[in-house]
Amino acid sequence: MPSTSQLQALRDSLTPDATLLSDPSSFEFQAHLQRWSNVNLRTPSAIVLPSTEEDCLSIIKWARSTGTPFVCKSGGMSLYSTIDEAGIVIDLSDFSSVTYNESRSEATLVGGVRSKEVAMELARHGVCTTLPSSNTVGAIPFFLNGGNSPLASKLGYASDNILRARLITAGGEIVNASDDEHTDLLFAIRGAGQFFGLVVSLTVRAYPVLEVFGNAQGRFWNGRFIFPLDRVAEVAEAMRHVVNNSTYCAGGLIMIAAPPPTRCPAIVVTARVIHPKSEELQGEVFKALYDLGPVASAGGMIPIENNGDSLQPLMAPGDFKKLRLTAIHVYDPSVFPEIAELWRQMTTTCPDAMPSMFSILWESQSPLPPTFATANGMHGIRFWANNLTWCTSAESQEVVQGYLEKVIAVTRRGQKPVEYVDFANSLREPESPVHRRYHDLERLQRLRRLKMEWDPEGLFGGDLL
Ligand SMILES: Cc1cc2nc3c(=O)[nH]c(=O)nc-3n(C[C@H](O)[C@H](O)[C@H](O)COP(=O)(O)OP(=O)(O)OC[C@H]3O[C@@H](n4cnc5c(N)ncnc54)[C@H](O)[C@@H]3O)c2cc1C
Repeated sequence: MPSTSQLQALRDSLTPDATLLSDPSSFEFQAHLQRWSNVNLRTPSAIVLPSTEEDCLSIIKWARSTGTPFVCKSGGMSLYSTIDEAGIVIDLSDFSSVTYNESRSEATLVGGVRSKEVAMELARHGVCTTLPSSNTVGAIPFFLNGGNSPLASKLGYASDNILRARLITAGGEIVNASDDEHTDLLFAIRGAGQFFGLVVSLTVRAYPVLEVFGNAQGRFWNGRFIFPLDRVAEVAEAMRHVVNNSTYCAGGLIMIAAPPPTRCPAIVVTARVIHPKSEELQGEVFKALYDLGPVASAGGMIPIENNGDSLQPLMAPGDFKKLRLTAIHVYDPSVFPEIAELWRQMTTTCPDAMPSMFSILWESQSPLPPTFATANGMHGIRFWANNLTWCTSAESQEVVQGYLEKVIAVTRRGQKPVEYVDFANSLREPESPVHRRYHDLERLQRLRRLKMEWDPEGLFGGDLL
């Protein structure tokens, strides 16, 4: 744990606009301590908010010289930007921006900038990039660890769209990684970036919305279909054709949940089509769902920068939440009634887990593969078991975790352990071993070698050591 004089020395090394919070009872400290989830949330000895790249460098150098462990925090949506009193949190929320370079069709993301901010700024210029369906996710960590977006089948994973990175390494140096400099590091940053340094800025590809969506507003059809939960088998069966129809770029979630405000258990299909004629086509693409007669359905054209807005209630901080994604290689409708039964049992045993959702994320077309090697090992996957557990009471966590494991086992039925793939940007060890996140052996070996070269002491996490 750093001493008061060490923290004072850190404070003295920072620029005047930087902030160091070391009183856990203060309102500011508590506000910056908040995360999307309280799972494993710990209280550090200080939260430091750099305001410049120079501040970031001073903090890493100080941490090295005092032997103080640290974690970086951007959007605070993961379970990993928290540390106990032995260490400090480097909170990047006051060091955050996004700029667009029109002549190069590139966006540069800085520090803790959130996805929504990036989407809005790019929309002003009539361009877009690969961003999550969740506004508050930190844009840099999203890109660094893969990054799945509704545009993956058109533009690839977010990590495939990284052009350059500027980072502070465990050695306390500022380094640029690009096609010309430290190319090996660029390979690692494109899919496993969090484990290699504090990324102060990331330059990513941007695309004219006219090219991607066929209209100047970047609009596409987005909707949802709601059915009572006892119709789960028919809905899942009807979706078999929809999810496997690769003619159109369509995708969404098939979700077992009790959506607010009624909290009636339901099977909810969220659905989108990206096509110049998406509004006309959606009736044909989702005909099987309309034919079933949903109890409610809604949809319309939205611009890409509003893609995450309908999920805003899921972004609320606090409670005990976990988002875990595991790959499914073949769509099997027969798993849904079993998952629905597990959801029912879980919410009966732990009513405070009612906001939980068990779902399958589907894409009708595979993510566009890159033409270069990257650390991202998730290409070729169109379906993910996308499970969000959410309970309000700490005591329910163990029971809820048990149900989560059962749901994952159901969705992995028929897979050999060697075929298990975990989404790189959800959970880490021990729940999600590193070989499942970077599952190709050659890729993993290369990453391990690079980790030994750039961060042998695991300052940025020990996963690859
Ligand atoms: C509700 C929800 C929805 C999501 N939706 C999607 C989605 O649609 N697609 C998708 O791919 N993922 C999605 N995710 C996963 C999300 O992309 C990852 O959890 C991501 O790491 C969160 O980044 P953050 O900045 O918000 O979190 P943080 O907890 O702040 O950071 C995440 C990790 O990155 C490290 N880190 C933070 N900033 C930096 C930096 N500048 N340099 C190096 N390391 C840094 C942190 O130490 C931590 O280990 C979702 C997650 C949630 C909870």
